[in-house]
Amino acid sequence: MTLYPINSGNFKLDGGAMFGVVPKSIWQKTNPADSNNMIDLTARCLLIEDGKRLILVDTGMGIKQSDKFFGYYYLWGNDTLEKSLKHYGFTPDDITDVFLTHLHFDHCGGAITWNKDHTGYQSVFKNARYWSNKSHWDWATKPNKREKASFLKENILPIQESGQLNFTALPQDDMIKNSELGFDIFFANGHTEKQMIPVINYKGKTICFMADLLPTVGHLPLPFIMGYDTRPLLTLNEKESFLNLAANNNYYLFLEHDPYNEIITVKHTEKGVRLNEVYTAKDIFGT
Ligand SMILES: [Zn+2]
Repeated sequence: MTLYPINSGNFKLDGGAMFGVVPKSIWQKTNPADSNNMIDLTARCLLIEDGKRLILVDTGMGIKQSDKFFGYYYLWGNDTLEKSLKHYGFTPDDITDVFLTHLHFDHCGGAITWNKDHTGYQSVFKNARYWSNKSHWDWATKPNKREKASFLKENILPIQESGQLNFTALPQDDMIKNSELGFDIFFANGHTEKQMIPVINYKGKTICFMADLLPTVGHLPLPFIMGYDTRPLLTLNEKESFLNLAANNNYYLFLEHDPYNEIITVKHTEKGVRLNEVYTAKDIFGT
């Protein structure tokens, strides 16, 4: 198996929204804000090459939204999904599976684009199976008013219309072992219904794609929970149990949204689970 970090682009979000009830005087120490109170974020996807399969985990926000829409997110840097794939010698047509942790626009927008004459939408990865799960799909296609702005119809419905949509099995408790994708999946319900966290066995190491369960290093303390989370107390419990596992077993946590820390390990301290080491993807994957 070979793993590759695939940066699909950088953006910014309001620091207050990213840290919920935590005061700025505290969160700005780890995640400094600009004059608009925005903090730096990225959309770092993960590519898994395993035998004949080439699995892309999440896709970033894509390029099809309006300038007005992107204006809210202050895009920065030059990375795109396509450029980052090309850097490793891959094209979108090579991807066999697109695994979507959840259907918020900054995770799935890059999966769908305009068709040639801009009259409708088409898959970016035309040879791939797209993976979600039934509970999350139902939740995202009949969105509550609070999450509606994150579940964009044009990102979601074309996946089904293309005939490429597949659902993973749902767990009895919170974990599916050895899923159809070849890795384990931890299901977290605090951020949104049935967000999926890939837990990958890679050359004796356990690599966890943290998605919105742990957006940045600054979110390690348990109550540091995004204002976007629909069930914050559940996130608190899920973070606690997952971070304990991670500290006990020396998991490598791949951070999708942290522009400056790609992979971390954590350790137990008197204050709770905290940062142990920071690695680049190159340190761990060699790619
Ligand atoms: Zn999200």
